[in-house]
Amino acid sequence: MRVASRVLVIGGGAAGMSAASAARRTDPSATITVLEHGTFPSYGLCGIPYYLGGVIPRGEDLIAYPAEEFISRRRIDLQLGTAATGVDLSRRTVLTATGATLDFDSLVLAAGAVPIVPPISGVDDPRVVTVRRLEDAIALHSRLGNVRRAVVVGAGYVGLEMAEALCERGIEVTIVDRLPRVLTTVDETVAALAQEEAGRHCSLRLGTGLVGLHPEPEFVRVELEDGEVLADLVVLALGVRPSTSLVPELAALPNGALLVDHQMRTSHEAVWAAGDCVALHHLVLAGPAYVPLGPAANKAGRVAGIEAAGGHASFPGIVGTAVVKVFDLTVAHTGLTLAQAQSAGMAAQATEITAKSRAKYYPGAEPLRVRLVHTPDGLLLGGQLAGKDGAAQRIDVVAAALHARMTIDDLADLDLAYAPPFSPVYDPLTQAAQSAQFARAKQEAR
Ligand SMILES: Cc1cc2nc3c(=O)[nH]c(=O)nc-3n(C[C@H](O)[C@H](O)[C@H](O)COP(=O)(O)OP(=O)(O)OC[C@H]3O[C@@H](n4cnc5c(N)ncnc54)[C@H](O)[C@@H]3O)c2cc1C
Repeated sequence: MRVASRVLVIGGGAAGMSAASAARRTDPSATITVLEHGTFPSYGLCGIPYYLGGVIPRGEDLIAYPAEEFISRRRIDLQLGTAATGVDLSRRTVLTATGATLDFDSLVLAAGAVPIVPPISGVDDPRVVTVRRLEDAIALHSRLGNVRRAVVVGAGYVGLEMAEALCERGIEVTIVDRLPRVLTTVDETVAALAQEEAGRHCSLRLGTGLVGLHPEPEFVRVELEDGEVLADLVVLALGVRPSTSLVPELAALPNGALLVDHQMRTSHEAVWAAGDCVALHHLVLAGPAYVPLGPAANKAGRVAGIEAAGGHASFPGIVGTAVVKVFDLTVAHTGLTLAQAQSAGMAAQATEITAKSRAKYYPGAEPLRVRLVHTPDGLLLGGQLAGKDGAAQRIDVVAAALHARMTIDDLADLDLAYAPPFSPVYDPLTQAAQSAQFARAKQEAR
């Protein structure tokens, strides 16, 4: 094992603290330093909407481990409130905002991502916020009692989760998006269900872009392409860009997401990276893709830490599995949508059915939309599920099927569990796969 005596990690979030902890387990004698700009290490960012909505009582409940756990038990030099401001790869040093210069043998970049903020006037008003940092969420939580009307700009999953959280607090919410639909991570027919559900709770202004934000003493005037909305709070949920400006010389996708190999090593031999600042190998696309999500940040962070400390590990890749609660609906997806497969130049088609989530006579059975994306000869490329019951656990079956490069025939043959409270005797996934088989047989018969 190569011994790396000084492992330096930039970013103390999910990826960075996973890397630092794994580095410690790999090399008990290494000096491991984490520079974290914020005041909290490793917290559940994904829980912020549920904290703001009142499901989680305290912001601190989202913290995975207190700083003391890392400092005393794992012997990690965790420097909170310390931003890295420069990286000199030739000298192998990192400069901090406090003026210190730290040497490293191995560097792990885990600075995450930053919310996209449009270059328009008014974004600096304190009533205009983004959702990324726990410190900001705690500050926002204390102000929500004074908010009557909110505008959420961006109808992706963070925007929809925030809209629900604000509705839970009794706030009137308007969701705005430049596109005429919500959730581009699923195809339109599935997104339509999420849109209908969101529309039951919020006003939707879709197909109209944000033009300007005009702060007035009593409210912010949100100027749209087709009118305006008044708000006490504006949440910008326009997606993120990877936080990689410290290392412009490393190979990256056009959006700045660092390119890494299966060991999470970047284009520099002494630099590894993980989390929302990297592009991961997408197993269905067979190439790098930027899909910034929590489980991969943790797992790839662990691999980066092991490798940076001189051990051996690898991260095979992702299929882009995600699930989101949209009020009473669950929307889950994995692999490619039909639109994504087609824009990647693949011959693809979709099979979509609606089945019951449980035996039809059993209380709680709900319609479950299942959409499978596959090649004309049946290779599975992706899956999408939407319903009030049974979507979340089934998407993991499709994810496993993608990892195993299954066909719709394989999926139809899977021995899935059945009991009336959980599934019809033909599971909705089995029904969808059989429907795809039937469609293919019809095509072949023509
Ligand atoms: C509201 C919300 C909900 C989400 N929900 C889900 C979900 O349900 N499921 C899911 O899979 N994913 C979800 N995600 C995404 C998930 O949270 C991220 O993929 C994950 O947190 C990425 O981890 P990370 O360590 O790369 O980044 P982060 O957790 O952002 O950590 C990066 C850290 O680096 C620090 N940093 C940045 N620059 C510097 C610097 N120059 N010097 C020192 N420190 C620096 C930052 O302060 C930050 O703490 C959600 C994200 C948000 C914002």
